[in-house]
Amino acid sequence: MAKREKMKCMYCGRTFFKGQGVIIKISDETFYFHSKKCALEFFKRLMERIPPEVSLPAAKSLQRELEEVIKKKEEASKKKF
Ligand SMILES: [Zn+2]
Repeated sequence: MAKREKMKCMYCGRTFFKGQGVIIKISDETFYFHSKKCALEFFKRLMERIPPEVSLPAAKSLQRELEEVIKKKEEASKKKF
């Protein structure tokens, strides 16, 4: 029987079983959150600490990438008709 490992949410301190929460890896550090909400709150606060000259180009590049994916999906659904 596999032992269910208990994790602690690093945002609110609630405990949860490994595999149920949200896991975020940055380099070789792992951060555990019991819910998406806690992970999102952590990210919001993390973003406030990253200088805009670093975060903005990364956000813009991700935005462009996602726009491309959406565009392709929209084109693919148009072709069906
Ligand atoms: Zn939490």
